[in-house]
Amino acid sequence: MSFFGSSMHTLDDLFVHGLKTIYYAERQIAETLPKMIAMATNRDLRAGFELHLTETENQRVRLEQVFRQHGVEAAETTCPAIDGIIKAAKATASDIDDKHVLDAALTFSAQLVEHYEIAQYGTLVAWARELDREDCAVLLAETLAEEKATDDKLTQIAEARIKNANRIILTMVCCRWRHTQPNWQLRHYPWSNPGDLAGRVNRLRRARFYVRRLLAG
Ligand code: FE
Ligand code: FE
Repeated sequence: MSFFGSSMHTLDDLFVHGLKTIYYAERQIAETLPKMIAMATNRDLRAGFELHLTETENQRVRLEQVFRQHGVEAAETTCPAIDGIIKAAKATASDIDDKHVLDAALTFSAQLVEHYEIAQYGTLVAWARELDREDCAVLLAETLAEEKATDDKLTQIAEARIKNANRIILTMVCCRWRHTQPNWQLRHYPWSNPGDLAGRVNRLRRARFYVRRLLAG
């Protein structure tokens, strides 16, 4: 038995098979995105998922238009690749408690999905042109651009999260270092802790020291 079944003999057959596969994948993604929106805590990530859910629903409508233009009835073919990506994403997410780690995992899973879609749509655009179906290629290229833009946005979110994490670590290290320095509070935050008795005594001692030195001078 061949991988694609016995009904595929031409590039046109392969093109239609690809359309059916991505049509199935887009429905799976549209059903999964609301769960990812509910799990995401990063505001930008959630907003990105919400926008892409609307785009994904439009992409299914666009695919129906491609089917129509090509004279084929819109239908789905199960795609084990997208099923596997979504299954792995769910398994990983269910094992994570920390919300920042969960955001990182969701970003990674979403990028896996986008890379899958970029490969699918990129190939379909090329095949449509080879088959002289520029009308179909234009629509598929529109979706391809959306998938690439989503992938870029996810990269930016991932990089911003890493930068933010590094900033927090640096701040913690600096605070810890300051606390090891003598009189760190007086030197760095002389106005802080007004209710702290030890701080007040230190400030008074320092003031008395300066007054004495002035008087002595
Ligand atoms: Fe899509
Ligand atoms: Fe997508």
